[in-house]
Amino acid sequence: MDETMGSMPSQKTLGNYRLGKTLGIGAFGKVKVALHTTTKLKVAIKILDRQSIDDSTADRVKREINILRLFSHPHIVRLYEVIETRTKIYVVMEYMNSGELFDYITENDRLQEDEARHFFQQIISGVECCHVNMVVHRDLKPENLLLDTKRNVKVADFGLSNVMRDGHFLKTSCGSPNYAAPEVISEQLYSGPEVDVWSCGVILFALLCGRLPFDADSLSGLYAKIKSGIYTFPNHLSRAARDLIARILVVDPIKRISIPEIRRHPWFQQHLPKYIALRTIDAIYTTNKVDEEIVQQVVKIGFDINEVIQSLQNRLQNEATVAYHLLLDNHFRIHCSYLKNEFIESLPQDPNPTDHPEMQMSSLAPMQRQWALGLKSQARPIETMTTVLKVFERLNVKWKKIGPYNMKCLWIPPLAAYPKLTVGNDPAQDHIYSVDPSIMAMNKRAIRSQNAVKFEIQLYKTNDNRYLLDSQLLHGPPFMFLEICAAFVGMAAA
Ligand code: ADP
Ligand code: MG
Repeated sequence: MDETMGSMPSQKTLGNYRLGKTLGIGAFGKVKVALHTTTKLKVAIKILDRQSIDDSTADRVKREINILRLFSHPHIVRLYEVIETRTKIYVVMEYMNSGELFDYITENDRLQEDEARHFFQQIISGVECCHVNMVVHRDLKPENLLLDTKRNVKVADFGLSNVMRDGHFLKTSCGSPNYAAPEVISEQLYSGPEVDVWSCGVILFALLCGRLPFDADSLSGLYAKIKSGIYTFPNHLSRAARDLIARILVVDPIKRISIPEIRRHPWFQQHLPKYIALRTIDAIYTTNKVDEEIVQQVVKIGFDINEVIQSLQNRLQNEATVAYHLLLDNHFRIHCSYLKNEFIESLPQDPNPTDHPEMQMSSLAPMQRQWALGLKSQARPIETMTTVLKVFERLNVKWKKIGPYNMKCLWIPPLAAYPKLTVGNDPAQDHIYSVDPSIMAMNKRAIRSQNAVKFEIQLYKTNDNRYLLDSQLLHGPPFMFLEICAAFVGMAAA
């Protein structure tokens, strides 16, 4: 047994895991190293205390984790499973054994451009994978970037910050605001992937300069600096690096450079590893293909081969699939040469830089739905969402964000929205808008609340690289839902 597992005789176990030393203490609980006893591989387990999470937050944590479980990328810390007990939620993830990028920068003062670029390229490739799958991090900072022994960096805490940020957790969060985008601290209507791009710019600045672009003694001073977007470069920075940072740290999110544009920037393209340039690894990691050699290893542990294959194909979480993914990741770490520095210096022109056919929303495909309407747009997601929320404001639609591209909405129709309100005593005039006379007898408020429409909107990426705004009726009369959809289309097109 090695040092990280500790040598306490009364080691705690949790299912198939033997818990070891505490790796760190975060805002939401401890993170411990653990040994997966069936495969003898190490994992990190984040322990969330149920007492500090209300039920709805716990449900969202679980839902989000189920989405993240399907993500597999060499620069994203892998989530293997969630174990729930009466008092705790345990999030089992990939173990990163060389600490935080934060400590690495602190120890090295500042990094040479080649080394900073090596980390930055890996961070961008991980962040991009999540954005393509419609997950925004929102809390990117060097403390959430973890290193392995081969100096590869992986993004941790993807998605968790989303669920925890909106709810109860925000109050207890003590995250550093130095990396937050101006639109985040000024609580604008909507913030999407652009907020992660900003944070990546602050991280790049910190890697190259060994200090932060925006810093102040007081929170209000810091916010003022971030909102002004004014910072100074040290003399040693190359022109190309300055140019890239200056394009990222742009206060207006619409004018800020996007990830596909960062990919094309000359500074980013130097010594760009082939697997990042061509995204070959994304394809390897995200296809549904089952690796036979790894399945055989799982079978050797004692699982039934048909059960393993079926569970993998159905993307189930059980002991066999957890063992499979642990062994698969370990196999990649040891045998795969993808992370070897095979560079590509000039790229063929890529007309659709964010096009990953294997990854498009496969895991988040819309469910079967009774009522659905969709609007297609070529605008960038942030522009679409900003427009949507502006129109909602004008239409008096209330909304609650449940994901970066997903809102629950409520519309209580004004009485004027009942275009053909008939009492129903003239059969010739009866049609879908007529209401029962008993309803007419109720007071106006009751009619309005009876006709309240609850619906959900979700922005998807489609195969032809456009964005589809989908809306689904959750509760309320279908004709009123159509009414609000029509009003929305009319106003959004104007
Ligand atoms: P926070 O809530 O502040 O973001 P986390 O809960 O993410 O903190 O983690 C606390 C610390 O535990 C991290 O800063 C890191 O040092 C360590 N840690 C977290 N996840 C892992 C992991 N997968 N592998 C190794 N260490 C980890
Ligand atoms: Mg963290």
